[in-house]
Amino acid sequence: MASSPKLNSKIPEGTIENKWTKYRSTVHLVNPSNKRSLEVIVVGSGLAGSSAAASLAEMGYKVKVFCFQDSPRRAHSIAAQGGVNAAKNYQNDGDSVYRLFYDTIKGGDYRAREANVHRLAEVSTNIIDQCVAQGVPFAREYGGTLSNRSFGGTQVQRTFYAAGQTGQQLLLGAYSALQRQIGMGAVTMMTRHEMMDVVNIDGKCRGIIARDLVTGKLERHFGHAVLLCTGGYGNVFYLSTNAMGCNVTAAWKAHKKGAFFGNPCYTQIHPTCIPVSGDHQSKLTLMSESLRNDGRIWVPKKKDDARKAVDIPEEERDYYLERRYPAFGNLVPRDVASRAAKERCDAGYGVGTSKMAVYLDFAANTERYGKIEATKLNLQNPSKEEIMRLGKEVVKEKYGNLFDMYKQITDENPYEMPMRIYPAVHYTMGGLWVDYNLMTTVEGLYALGEANFSDHGANRLGASALMQGLADGYFVIPYTIGDYLSEEIRTKAIPTDNEAFVKAEKDVQERIDKLLSIKGKKSVDNFHKRLGKIMWEKCGMARNKEGLNWAITEIQKLRAEFWSDVFVPGTANEFNSELEKAGRVADFIELGELMCIDALNREESCGGHFREEFQTPEGEALRDDEKFAFVSAWEFKAESQFELHKEELKYENIKIAQRSYK
Ligand SMILES: Cc1cc2nc3c(=O)[nH]c(=O)nc-3n(C[C@H](O)[C@H](O)[C@H](O)COP(=O)(O)OP(=O)(O)OC[C@H]3O[C@@H](n4cnc5c(N)ncnc54)[C@H](O)[C@@H]3O)c2cc1C
Repeated sequence: MASSPKLNSKIPEGTIENKWTKYRSTVHLVNPSNKRSLEVIVVGSGLAGSSAAASLAEMGYKVKVFCFQDSPRRAHSIAAQGGVNAAKNYQNDGDSVYRLFYDTIKGGDYRAREANVHRLAEVSTNIIDQCVAQGVPFAREYGGTLSNRSFGGTQVQRTFYAAGQTGQQLLLGAYSALQRQIGMGAVTMMTRHEMMDVVNIDGKCRGIIARDLVTGKLERHFGHAVLLCTGGYGNVFYLSTNAMGCNVTAAWKAHKKGAFFGNPCYTQIHPTCIPVSGDHQSKLTLMSESLRNDGRIWVPKKKDDARKAVDIPEEERDYYLERRYPAFGNLVPRDVASRAAKERCDAGYGVGTSKMAVYLDFAANTERYGKIEATKLNLQNPSKEEIMRLGKEVVKEKYGNLFDMYKQITDENPYEMPMRIYPAVHYTMGGLWVDYNLMTTVEGLYALGEANFSDHGANRLGASALMQGLADGYFVIPYTIGDYLSEEIRTKAIPTDNEAFVKAEKDVQERIDKLLSIKGKKSVDNFHKRLGKIMWEKCGMARNKEGLNWAITEIQKLRAEFWSDVFVPGTANEFNSELEKAGRVADFIELGELMCIDALNREESCGGHFREEFQTPEGEALRDDEKFAFVSAWEFKAESQFELHKEELKYENIKIAQRSYK
């Protein structure tokens, strides 16, 4: 299968180990004085956006950053809990750049681009050095060396962490770097501004239309290049672990202006979240994957077992992940763990009142830690109680904030009884299609971090999103953008009274006016919830042809109803959060349709995309490499009309195989 002529991934020549090194030595550069007259717009201030903006400003470019929060520090990246991967091999347990590369390709079920993933593994080590230099307080061993823990889909310990607040600490590092540039006048920071559209002139992206969310005023901003670092779109499902504000609007507007959307149906459902407890919820809570280092997952062997977890004897428990996947046990990748939990609950072995939950149990490892502590303290014949008390201290040290969070939400004490968990929407592997330079199919328009489709294939491994966002921002874009901007040094700043800016702003205004004029009977949330239900039931953990066809029709009906019966209170020229939400939900509805179309088209199962018709006799995902070893890149044509372009995936360094964690 050949790639579509409209997709040039621009993968450099050479061996996989040398591609990035050679690229960096030969890519076109922009000299310092020219950098000062080149303007770059960065939309988003999460890990990808902050790191990119700080790096580009430090290099000398004129940078403008936009975010919809009141501070760049509030980007959703701050919520990341568990850690960030890097192939440092500090544990001397056999890790290497190649192994991180291999684990990521295999973890993504052989649906990611080799060259990008190898580059990611290479620069992973720089990220840790960079962040340590910034003062990020990674966890350390007693002797001062950086500590590591395991995440799913690997057999080494390569995850660096700062308790259960890794994202927060990394973002504070990137934010400090950004703040420094703001202080020096190299970055103009536009908080409480939402990008409403991109502006293309003669086939190149030349700026954005933004709305000041406090006054409602629309603004035009020019840039020689525009970077979308706008995060993922998991909230299309309404309920997810994402922050409430996460949305697809920036990426979707870019898509409608020519940027192809890559693999929209690849969604990650995280296995360890606090289960849904009722209709009142608008948010789900993640229990970090790091907990699977010490938590064992099980259900009762007996169906509908009503006993308390602590009353069920060891021999009557089914540690189903350890049983099915002995080589990786509780640390299988997320897609595998989620499906296994669903399988047990669907078969009637679920626990809790809803029966849609499984146990995550720390008792065995609490006891193990307690015995180690007792030995250290030279205690002779300690009682079980004493051992458990000592063990709890160790568990508290490692996961205390996560245990507190669980207790506050469920009012149950996870030190005394197992947590109840169930899979929930968490991350979107799909996103804007980008080439090796992170440029979309629109010249001058880039996508970084979770907003692009690039490195995780059909399933992202835990602790790899922070790695990718920071790799893109600190280490990739500073080189690759030069390839484009070196050709732009003669382009003067385009005045924003240019007709393309005027037209884009007019279109945005008309859409806002339309939303406010409908004055229907249903709230924006009503539509969002209904969309989420369709997506979760038909395009969630399991999908099939009939369900997807039904979902596409339902979403089309929902869109028509939205545009005739939504009620948006207030006016355009004020702080109006309902108006913001309305625009975002309208985009989610369109995206939802494309996700279902993509899922319908991909007649195989891979990673997070599980088509019930395509599974092995053991219920594992069954890929079809003959027909589907490609990236789906969708071009927007008109409402409900998308054209598929394929980027062939070639595996020259890794042998493509049926994924096994047994
Ligand atoms: C609860 C939770 C825990 C996680 N834990 C981990 C972990 O331990 N390890 C790991 O590797 N990954 C983790 N992840 C995933 C990871 O946090 C995200 O993938 C990553 O932080 C995304 O970073 P980003 O910079 O791409 O986007 P974000 O941090 O989401 O930032 C997006 C930015 O874009 C801005 N924006 C969006 N749209 C617009 C618009 N239209 N106009 C203006 N601005 C806009 C926002 O204001 C924001 O500044 C976790 C995710 C969740 C939900």
